[in-house]
Amino acid sequence: MTIMSGKDYLESLRKYTPEVYIRGERIDHVTTHPLMRQTLNHIASGYDLMNSPEFRDRAMVVSPLTGEPIPRLQLHIQQSEEDLLIKAELTREISSRRICVGCMSNMLSVTWALIHDLDANHGTDYFPRFTSFVTRLQKSDERIAWCMMDPKGDRSLSPSQQPQPTDLRIVKRKANGIVVSGTKLHTTFGPGVHQVLVVPCRALNEEDKDFAVSFALPIDTKGIKMIARPSPGPTHETNMESPISSRFLGVEATTIFDEVFVPEENIFMCGEWQQAMNLPFYFASLHRQSKCACSAGHCDLFAGAAALCAEVNGLSMNVSHIRDKITDMMIAAETGFGCALGAVSRAGKHPSGVCFPDALTANAGLHTIRSTIGKHIEILHDIAGGLIVTMPTEADWDNLQLREYLEPALRGNPAYTTEERLRAIQLVQDLASSRLTGILLGYTINAAGSPETNKVVIRTLYDLEKRIAQAKEIASIYS
Ligand SMILES: Cc1cc2nc3c(=O)[nH]c(=O)nc-3n(C[C@H](O)[C@H](O)[C@H](O)COP(=O)(O)OP(=O)(O)OC[C@H]3O[C@@H](n4cnc5c(N)ncnc54)[C@H](O)[C@@H]3O)c2cc1C
Repeated sequence: MTIMSGKDYLESLRKYTPEVYIRGERIDHVTTHPLMRQTLNHIASGYDLMNSPEFRDRAMVVSPLTGEPIPRLQLHIQQSEEDLLIKAELTREISSRRICVGCMSNMLSVTWALIHDLDANHGTDYFPRFTSFVTRLQKSDERIAWCMMDPKGDRSLSPSQQPQPTDLRIVKRKANGIVVSGTKLHTTFGPGVHQVLVVPCRALNEEDKDFAVSFALPIDTKGIKMIARPSPGPTHETNMESPISSRFLGVEATTIFDEVFVPEENIFMCGEWQQAMNLPFYFASLHRQSKCACSAGHCDLFAGAAALCAEVNGLSMNVSHIRDKITDMMIAAETGFGCALGAVSRAGKHPSGVCFPDALTANAGLHTIRSTIGKHIEILHDIAGGLIVTMPTEADWDNLQLREYLEPALRGNPAYTTEERLRAIQLVQDLASSRLTGILLGYTINAAGSPETNKVVIRTLYDLEKRIAQAKEIASIYS
């Protein structure tokens, strides 16, 4: 059993040689390319954080599969209300510091339930294979990227109806495995991990059976190509600017599967189209509960940054409009987190052992909190002032001749130095006026499914008939 440090993780990547393209060119190796810097730092520091004295007690958990400690947020199959509650707490705390916790245990858990359903309903023997994949992963402490989302083409057509199908599908069945081709989009952190885990992304019908496929493969398997969009932060290291995006977050990849052979032991689903519809529902429960907590963490980060900026500018929570605006951020944070916790009070156990939070509460919470982000970005601009888009750069501050002018001109609250004031404004600039801002919007609005999919889940699960019956009873309507 291995528990890797950040350094071990970087070392472990050296033995993988994935085919990765950045800005149109194939890169030599992910560990040496400058545009992989933030991605590798994010993941490596994540390894260290989980095992740090501050987090270890909650972030490490003994695996029922190996009997050894594993990182809860990355590799654990969530099996109890306690698991869901601790996950929500950690997710809020960590995402308020570094935006993304890397919650791949959600993906392993929803796949665990899906594969269990397959064996139960089709008499297949995929589940033992998936169990040994997860066990191997836990023993090696490797990380996965999750390839769920297909390109989907014309949204009004099913995968097999597309004039030129590009969704991932089985193209050949062999005695010892299958060959797959197609594309998966939005593979977060893709080139920085060790394995890819592939699942279907939507309900399928019989004609789509070749699209009903799930498997895992090492990242450098022949035929897997990742076209990576660099992380949002600056390409160079900084001291003051972009305090979050210069260190954290990562590449997003378009993952191409070009005639990739998947050996039988790595296949977890192969044509059972009837079960594909379950996955989005499992995902809508477990991952959206996490997203409620994650978005709450982002609101915490916004509230802290806004209050700090008010203070370095010489204002405080005693100023009524500032108090009011930051209170809105607090309300959103507590609403999202409250729904992450509330969803656990109505959790239910799947036959596979996975504990699923209540999807109705999780989706209502996520829909509510994600709709506040635009307003919060507006508040950050409002409270921090125009400097967040007009201020001189770090290089100007580092030029001592220019600093002589900037030092008095940009001074604010005398309790802080000018540099401290600039650092606070740089943080708000990173959050509200940078490429990170756009990524934050994307993370909040689309990651874990678009807001409309929250509404679909809510309409499906909410018992409106009961409420109509009640209304009739109150109004004495008997038809
Ligand atoms: C930052 C980020 C990270 C992500 N990470 C991952 C990852 O690691 N792995 C992964 O697999 N995915 C990932 N995703 C993908 C994410 O789950 C999808 O972006 C999300 O589900 C929306 O799908 P889409 O982008 O295809 O948009 P679409 O589904 O095209 O949605 C666009 C709009 O069209 C509407 N729409 C779509 N289809 C229909 C329809 N049939 N009828 C009516 N309206 C429709 C939607 O409601 C929405 O309003 C990530 C996304 C982001 C933004």
